[in-house]
Parts: sequence; C-alpha cells; structure tokens
Amino acid sequence: MSFLKTKGFVLQSIAYRDSNILLKILTPEHGLLTCSAQGARSKRSNLKIATNPFVFAEYELFHYRERYRIQSANVIDAYLPLMEDIKRLTCVSHLAELVLDVLRHNPQGQTSYPFWAFASYKISTDPDPVLITGLAQIKYLSEQGFAPWVDNCLICGKSFSDLGARFYFAEGGFICEERACRKSVGSSSIMDLSIGALAALSFLIRNPYEKCYNFKLSKEVRIEIINFSERYLTYVMEKDYQKLAILRSLESFEVSYNDQSKGKLDKS
Ligand SMILES: [Zn+2]
Repeated sequence: MSFLKTKGFVLQSIAYRDSNILLKILTPEHGLLTCSAQGARSKRSNLKIATNPFVFAEYELFHYRERYRIQSANVIDAYLPLMEDIKRLTCVSHLAELVLDVLRHNPQGQTSYPFWAFASYKISTDPDPVLITGLAQIKYLSEQGFAPWVDNCLICGKSFSDLGARFYFAEGGFICEERACRKSVGSSSIMDLSIGALAALSFLIRNPYEKCYNFKLSKEVRIEIINFSERYLTYVMEKDYQKLAILRSLESFEVSYNDQSKGKLDKS
C-alpha cells in the first residue's frame, strides 16, 4: 500500500459500473498507468474534469495490490480547444489509439510522454491538425525504431535528384530512379514522393519534438505527406485506423463546402 503523486495525460477514459471511470494515464516516470476513479461520474465528484479524455493533470494515486486508485487531482490543462473542435478531437483520439497500441507491448516506453506532450499541444493549437497528426505518427513510429530510411538511396547510397524517390514498403526505405537500383529489389508495395516531401520527412525524423513540426509545406507536398503517413502507419502497425477515414471525410467535406461557398461568392 502506497501513495504516488504524478503528472499525466489521460489517453483513455472508460465508464464502468455505476459511476466509476477507468483511466489510462501516461506519466513521465511510470509510463502508462491504469487507474480507477471511484464515483467520478456522480454529480458531486470533484474528479469530473480530471477524468476527461486528454486532460493534463497532477494526480494523487493510491496503490494497492497492483491497482491504482485516484484520490485527488489538480487539472493543469483541460485541453478545451480540443473538445470544441471535432477535427482536432478526432486527430488526438486517433493518436491516442496509436500510442496505446504501441504501449500495450511496452508500457514503460520512455519517449511516449514527451512525444505526447508536444504532439497533443500542437494538434490542439496548430491551424492544420490533420497534417500535424500525419507528421506525429511518423515521428512516433521512428522513435520506436521504425524510422523510414529517407536520407539517400537504400541501394546505391547516392543523394536523391530533383526527381524525388520511390518508397518500397517491404524494404522500409527510398530508392533512387536508377534502373539498376530498382531492379535489385523485388516487387513490393511502393509509393513515389517528391524531393520536397523527402526533405520534410528528413527534417521531421532528425529534429527534437519541440522543433520537428516547424516547417511550411506546399499544398501538394502536404497531401503527399498525409497519404504516405497513413500508408506507412497501416504497413508498420498491420492495422487500419478507422479515425483516419473519418478525418479524410471531414477534410473532403470542408473542401467541397469551401468550394460551394466560394462559388456563391463568385456568382454574387
Ligand atoms: Zn540508387
């Protein structure tokens, strides 16, 4: 029996029995903790906000027989902009699903906490949360040992020309346009990326969390990165992430809505 005081982000919040909530909290020193919050859904509970998904708070936990129970909590950031924006909320829910999938195999994963702190802040504040999500998932997989090889040709080692390069999913890297290089790898799932997209990926992978999202992309390169990121994630995790499909439909709805209202303006 012991007490533990820790900061943490709520990655998952599930109601169970009567008015209780079961939480997965990502902490800096103890990795992912599963905690129960007794009575947190009752009207009078003062744990209400601190048990919302994606909240950042300081928790006092009671530890007994391998279980954690929340005694009290101080909310540091309720991440309200997320709750008011369906797109940002979908982005951060998707990323939480990925982080929980990875941590299931390695609950102590040390880099997950700083990764989450920067990525969730960026998703809740950046004008383009969908792009940030695409970048963040490549960054996270890279930190887990699944970085795509982007800096030069996987076969001949030469730098890429302005033609860009082709990604071979089974090889985990990009290959230049030389026929000899491409002939030497078997047929596999592939994707062509421009030199601009390669530069962005390289910047993302090399730089620390506080800097790695800081660049501007053209419309075309943005789409390339988002598409590549989704395919790479599906390939590495061997799983289709449903919330990415929701994001895609939200994006195309916005595009057609903006086109329509633009059309109206043009006519008037
Ligand atoms: Zn080559």
